[in-house]
Amino acid sequence: MSLGVGSFSEKAKNLPSLLHKLAQAEDLAVSPEQVNRWIIPLNPNLQVLHSGPALVLGDAAGLADPFTGEGIYSALLSASLASEVIAEQVRCQKPDLREYTLLVKEKIGIGLSGALRASRWLYPASGLFHRLIQRRPELAAEFASLLAQDLKYTQFLEICRQHIGKLGLKKVFGK
Ligand SMILES: Cc1cc2nc3c(=O)[nH]c(=O)nc-3n(C[C@H](O)[C@H](O)[C@H](O)COP(=O)(O)OP(=O)(O)OC[C@H]3O[C@@H](n4cnc5c(N)ncnc54)[C@H](O)[C@@H]3O)c2cc1C
Repeated sequence: MSLGVGSFSEKAKNLPSLLHKLAQAEDLAVSPEQVNRWIIPLNPNLQVLHSGPALVLGDAAGLADPFTGEGIYSALLSASLASEVIAEQVRCQKPDLREYTLLVKEKIGIGLSGALRASRWLYPASGLFHRLIQRRPELAAEFASLLAQDLKYTQFLEICRQHIGKLGLKKVFGK
């Protein structure tokens, strides 16, 4: 079994003690040597991802989703885009990998900035979001669609905004 805790906030402290609390609550024993720590590098404002004959992909480019922390899909997608561009350029006298940066920005970058916005809005306001779902249960299905990538982050945030607008902030805050 793999058990973990994580945070998107640089201010988060005591993650190891939270992990131990979680393990205790599940009646599991975790010894210190079993605990590993790692970061998921995030880079939602993608700049240039190539230089001369080199390019960065996956975690090296910071392509993980700032809302879910998932980076396997974008690592594979960036590798696939890299291979397309390299195959085109490999025979050129002066290979130019600019197309790679453009493709990653187009296919991955737009989603990353939406995910960052969702992350900044939803995590600090998770209590409010929970109350919103209690009052508008259909939002749970919309959240599932977001996680299944059937809905974009920007669309989901707009849906949340509409629900809050219909309910009024007072009801969402439960006052
Ligand atoms: C705790 C945790 C849980 C996660 N859970 C999920 C999840 O559920 N779903 C998801 O989509 N993503 C998840 N991620 C993110 C995901 O693991 C990464 O985004 C993804 O693995 C990035 O792939 P990558 O190929 O870019 O890098 P990596 O998978 O890190 O691969 C890089 C490889 O290069 C090797 N390497 C490094 N330096 C050198 C060197 N100098 N020479 C040779 N080899 C070298 C490393 O050893 C490593 O094997 C999680 C990350 C963490 C830390």
